[in-house]
Order: sequence, then structure tokens, then C-alpha cells
Amino acid sequence: MTEILDRIRASLVGLRMTRALEALDHTLRRLERGEITAIEAIDGLLAEEHVTREGRRVTVAVKTARLMPIKTLESFDFSFQPSLDRGRILALAQLHFIERAEVVHLLGPPGTGKSHLATALGVEAVRAGKRVYRASLAEIIDALSRAERDGRLPEKLRFFSRNSLLIVDEIGYLPITPGGANLFFQLVNHRYEKGAMILTSNRGFAEWGEVFGDPVVATALLDRLLHHAIVVQIEGASYRLRAHADLMPEHTRAHAAIAPPPQPKRRGRPPKDGRIDQLHG
Ligand code: ADP
Ligand code: MG
Repeated sequence: MTEILDRIRASLVGLRMTRALEALDHTLRRLERGEITAIEAIDGLLAEEHVTREGRRVTVAVKTARLMPIKTLESFDFSFQPSLDRGRILALAQLHFIERAEVVHLLGPPGTGKSHLATALGVEAVRAGKRVYRASLAEIIDALSRAERDGRLPEKLRFFSRNSLLIVDEIGYLPITPGGANLFFQLVNHRYEKGAMILTSNRGFAEWGEVFGDPVVATALLDRLLHHAIVVQIEGASYRLRAHADLMPEHTRAHAAIAPPPQPKRRGRPPKDGRIDQLHG
């Protein structure tokens, strides 16, 4: 008996199953007292180990994906944002858009929860074992510019494309550096139909020429980013300012209207799966 137990311990050590090793003695005592069956003992030990490891994996992956501070769908108050269809967000959380390499646009004025929802969907993807990375558009362009300067642009493009979900936050807040729009276009092109993206923006698609400082590149970007696209528009008040709504100037209180997306003109081959892309629905 002690011989078998020693062997079990050695195996758990060899397999680095530290949590199961910790729980072993307690489990054996319960087994001896007849509180659990043998099969329950095995199940309990493996579940302890698995849950602990999954928790550790998600904690690390959430940091690697730069999804901190962590936001979840559970902590999102849908009742505060009635224009937002909860069912649609929960459908996105099923993550089929990642398998289909689609682009999700979250549009709306500041403080309406775009980054929160993008992060929360990223967390769901991490939990499901997907590789995720989040950065603001400014950070992405900055990283690509530096890589280009150092002759490492292809490597950096591969780095951003390696993730099955890339979250590009805060499109439209900061002016784009010259050449930046082109670098972002290269990234989008690199990922096109290969990897999913979530983009958040406070600006409508009609303003992208201005946002990217280059109408030609903006059109080419939209062409790809609206092809297999899901557009979620949030029209509501800022959650950040909810306690101070009465202090805010009238024009900032409600829906800062965002122009609806232009219908992209498609050239060339039709969508692979023959689906009519859901735009603005
Ligand atoms: P946006 O990216 O649209 O400017 P954020 O997602 O950053 O807005 O939201 C601002 C802050 O308010 C964040 O701390 C976010 O977690 C919180 N927040 C926004 N909307 C909600 C909501 N409906 N329920 C709970 N928290 C929210
Ligand atoms: Mg934001």
C-alpha cells in the first residue's frame, strides 16, 4: 500500500500535478472513512488539478493578451445601455466570429462600454483557449513604425497576425502619424480573412478618411474591414459620467450620432460561404 502511494506521489511530482499532490492525503482520508468512492476520489483529484491549472493559464494569458484591467460580460450592466442588444453580444461571446475570421466593429461615443465589451469578448476567447492580443490603434502603429525603422516590419506583422483575435481599441481618438495609416493597412491586409478582429471607434466610417489622414488608404481599409463584418452601434450616455449627467453640456449627453457605414463596393470573388455579410443589423 505505502509502495503504491509512493509511486502515485512520484507520478504526480513527475507530471507536475502539484495541486493533486496537495489534495492527495485529504482525499485518501476521505476514501478510508468511506465518505467518497474510489471513482469520486479520482474525479476529485483530477478536477482540482485541472481547475487550478486552467485558472493559472487564464491569468497568464489575460496578461499576455493585455486584457488588463480585466473586464467581463458578467460585470457589464446591459440595462444602462438599452440601445445595445444583449442577445447580440452574448451571441458574439459564442466566438463563432473568430472561427470565421470576421471583423466586429463596436461603435459609439466615449464611455459607452466599447473597450469594456471588446475586453470581455477577449477574455471569453482566452477562456476558450484562443490566442488574443489587445492594443490601441496608436500603440499598434507605434510598434509597426519602430519595427519598420529597425528593419523588422515583417516580423512585427507576423507577431500581430499570430493571434486568432486582435483587438484594436480607440480608433479615432488620436491623430495618426504620417505613414501610420499605411502600416496599419499592411497589418489588416496580412490578417485579411485569416484572423478575427474587434475594432472600437468613436467615429463613423464616413470619417475614416479624416481619422487616417488619407482617404485612399481609408477606403482600402474599409473595403477589407467591412467585408466579413458585424457592426454593433451603441447609442447612449457615458457610463463614466453617469453620476454627473446633470453637469454635462446638453450636446454631450445623449447619442453623439455616428453615421451609418457606407456599403463597401466589392470587387473580385464573392464571399467564400455565400453569406450575405451582416452589416449594421
Ligand atoms: P469606451 O471604450 O466606450 O469609451 P469603456 O468601455 O472604457 O468606454 O467604459 C468606461 C468605463 O465604464 C469602464 O471602466 C467600463 O468598465 C465602465 N462601463 C461602461 N459601460 C458599462 C456598463 N454598461 N456596465 C458596467 N460598466 C460599464
Ligand atoms: Mg475605449
